[in-house]
Amino acid sequence: MANQEEVFKKIVSHSKEYGFIYQSSEIYDGLSAVYDYGPYGVELKNNIKTYWWKSMVQMHENIVGIDTAIFMHPKTWKASGHVDAFNDPLIDNKDSKKRYRADVLIEDAVAKIEAKLEKEVEKAKARFGETFDEKLYRETNPRVVEYAQKASSILERMNTSMTSNDMEGLKNLIVELEIACPDSGSRNWTEVRQFNLMFNTQLGNIAGEEGKLYLRPETAQGIFVNFLNVQKTTRQKIPFGIAQIGKAFRNEIVARQFIFRMREFEQMEMQFFVKPGEEMKWYEYWKNERMRWHKAIGTPEAKLRFHNHENLAHYANAAVDIQFDFPFGFKELEGIHSRTNFDLTSHQELSGKKLQYFDSEDNENYVPYVVETSVGCDRMFLSVLSNSYVEETVPDAEGGDATRIVLKIHPTLAPIKCAVLPLVKNKPELVEKARQLFDLLKPNFLCQYDDKDAIGRRYRRQDAIGTPFCVTVDFETLEDQCVTIRDRDTLKQERISIAELSNYIQAKVNWNNVM
Ligand code: ATP
Repeated sequence: MANQEEVFKKIVSHSKEYGFIYQSSEIYDGLSAVYDYGPYGVELKNNIKTYWWKSMVQMHENIVGIDTAIFMHPKTWKASGHVDAFNDPLIDNKDSKKRYRADVLIEDAVAKIEAKLEKEVEKAKARFGETFDEKLYRETNPRVVEYAQKASSILERMNTSMTSNDMEGLKNLIVELEIACPDSGSRNWTEVRQFNLMFNTQLGNIAGEEGKLYLRPETAQGIFVNFLNVQKTTRQKIPFGIAQIGKAFRNEIVARQFIFRMREFEQMEMQFFVKPGEEMKWYEYWKNERMRWHKAIGTPEAKLRFHNHENLAHYANAAVDIQFDFPFGFKELEGIHSRTNFDLTSHQELSGKKLQYFDSEDNENYVPYVVETSVGCDRMFLSVLSNSYVEETVPDAEGGDATRIVLKIHPTLAPIKCAVLPLVKNKPELVEKARQLFDLLKPNFLCQYDDKDAIGRRYRRQDAIGTPFCVTVDFETLEDQCVTIRDRDTLKQERISIAELSNYIQAKVNWNNVM
């Protein structure tokens, strides 16, 4: 396949052309970093959410779900630390007037150094052939070692500046590295400033600071403030979890890479409440469990990896990302954080209400510790899409070669499960039979009926939206009550009786296959 940048462009245009994702308010030239999901997009997104909900809530007796409001009392965000510390370091280029995240500019510069390093390794690999000892080369070649040291020392300085709120340190790095504005090429920068990522709005009848409301930047706080409500009404005992799927809003400075970084997005978060001292055990458990979840839908191991945080958020004592190999490189897909008792303690202090759990086994009260798993629904969507997008050569009807674009989405997540296609549309008896079949399947599976164009074109249309099965009704069907079922990935066609069809499809799209 072409280079990854090309592939990414194709995925973005495929998403639009086939009704997965549209730019928001497109007729007004769009709103930056805000997107709408089209008819197939919403089905895939709903299936992703169902997959998460089932595997978290339905499969765990000790996890329950809630759905809390986007608006919360403004003190929530004071307690959580978002008012004071939910900032990105921001820098403006005075010539292009473009605004950037200082840490992203530095990370991009490091990525360039790493790319040079990899190029050296590739060159050596080609030169030495089979005898090449890559590990030794990476450890001893002076140029490679120099690049590696340079990259890690820049990252170390950046992390130190970030954790100590040293904006001048970040600016110095940008100047030293001679980083130029990607837009104008100019090095005429402002100072680095902190920029709060929360959107705010005003409560109807209260003027000024008093009435200031925020759009939640994460769903987690709705869980924390309801911790005791849920525990008491469901009689859960620690350890137990509360799960939620919902919208979150962040005024991101760097808004690019399609639905990877949006200003309005959806999170699937679960807070797991544990006894103090047991958090690391559960942190390990959820790390493994969440990685298993990503792999269960067929995402190859090589495209997923753990990445430990060096720069811990104010609330965490351990944190790891699950990164996915997006077309623009390995990036965070999910975060797993050991959040200590930071949030509950803080809410307890600011609200004056106790948020403690009475442990009847140990006969003691305590504020539980929390392990969080947080995955972006939209990033998950992008990972499924980029992992399943394939251009390939297949045999055409005349025995020649044809190329097709196919989305090899796991059948359980696929937007449409089955297409029902009468072989031709001008034979009323075929159309009637196909319609009957469609009516038979539709209560159980989202199906599509299609009788336009030649059968080959109809197959291509279904391939492009990832439909795992196409069922053709032909003249023989009228005699033998059998249809031809075509498999999206193998292209194998089988004759199968209508009586068995539902069970056949059900077996392939069953949730059981991914749990
Ligand atoms: P990043 O470092 O990429 O900004 P983050 O570490 O701030 O992400 P978290 O606060 O851990 O992200 O949020 C949990 C999850 O929510 C992320 O793993 C990601 O999948 C998703 N997410 C966060 N910000 C966005 C966004 N702007 N657009 C889409 N998804 C997002």
